[in-house]
Amino acid sequence: MSLPSLIQMMSQLIATPSISCSQASWDQSNKAVITLLESWLTQLGFRCEVLPIANQKDKFNLIATLGEGTGGLVLSGHTDTVPYDQGRWQSDPFKLTEREQKLYGLGSCDMKGFFAIALDAIKSMADVPFEEPLIILATADEESSMSGARALVEAGLPKARYALIGEPTSLTPIYAHKGIMMERIEVRGKSGHSSNPKLGVNALDTMHTVISDLMQFRQELKNEYSNTDFLIDYPTMNLGCIHGGDNPNRICGHCDLEFDIRTLPGMDDDHLIQAIQTRLANIADQTGTQIEFNRLFPAVPAFATSRNSDIVKACEQLTNKSAQTVAFATEGAFLNQLGMETLVLGPGSIDQAHQPNEFIALDQIEPMQNVIRSLVKRYCLNE
Ligand SMILES: [Zn+2]
Repeated sequence: MSLPSLIQMMSQLIATPSISCSQASWDQSNKAVITLLESWLTQLGFRCEVLPIANQKDKFNLIATLGEGTGGLVLSGHTDTVPYDQGRWQSDPFKLTEREQKLYGLGSCDMKGFFAIALDAIKSMADVPFEEPLIILATADEESSMSGARALVEAGLPKARYALIGEPTSLTPIYAHKGIMMERIEVRGKSGHSSNPKLGVNALDTMHTVISDLMQFRQELKNEYSNTDFLIDYPTMNLGCIHGGDNPNRICGHCDLEFDIRTLPGMDDDHLIQAIQTRLANIADQTGTQIEFNRLFPAVPAFATSRNSDIVKACEQLTNKSAQTVAFATEGAFLNQLGMETLVLGPGSIDQAHQPNEFIALDQIEPMQNVIRSLVKRYCLNE
């Protein structure tokens, strides 16, 4: 039995729903996608390990390895997609559809298509004995909690010298992006009749102090950190939404604020959070309110690989483009934590990801396959 064609593989992956979402009504298992990849990779001679993710029902990572050794290359992608807008697609999001030199489907560029492209690229190389391992890594929940990548860091797997993540970058090598954290602050005061301020503790008044302090902290971060590789070359904090109180003639008893922070590489996420918590504790003491601080989801760390890394240099040469930074987050920081020099480079454009009529342009496929084959030769065959 031979491997299906590239288009057949892409069609099957896209026809297999694997939405991940923090809203339980959308969230699905990625098991069926993992099983498809496992069957094809087994045919190519890879040893496949399917790893269930603790505390995540029916979510799995796949590590498929060909060859042995301590060096080698990981080709990495995520198996999940975002949800889709029903009725806003011109064709069925789960049916790969070709129109005007483009392949449409949910996950075509972000990023099930990458697996089909990668497997098709390496199928003719798989029977040559490798000097160093080639590992295909397929993760769960990249679009939601990144629990798949986090579980890999916990497990210390996989190990290789270099990694390429095939997220859609229009074939531009990406060596860094900012990190993201999203936080929630809840101020609890005491409600009462507005005619006498002594009857309560006003949470809105306290939130005013909290916001002033956060804006002060934001300025301190901006003064302290800068990295001109990024378009916005300082860490940002956005106060995103606020809810509180109910009536003008009642002392406001509760007020909640949500905000995000986008960190630069080199910033210590835990340190940052501790600094905020200390500031909030001081405000709570001064105002006699209770202030709770919660993370909306675990932080995605900033990602940076040295521009002098061999994989960065090699991919700059292969694509004839200099390496850049992007404004979206990937699993890159987690793979770097595993000790791999990681680059993000893939077919298709992020402009088409996460929206109706997602597509991958046909002319992205062959150049990507050339990059993949060259990297496999360089890092697994030592050519
Ligand atoms: Zn993606």
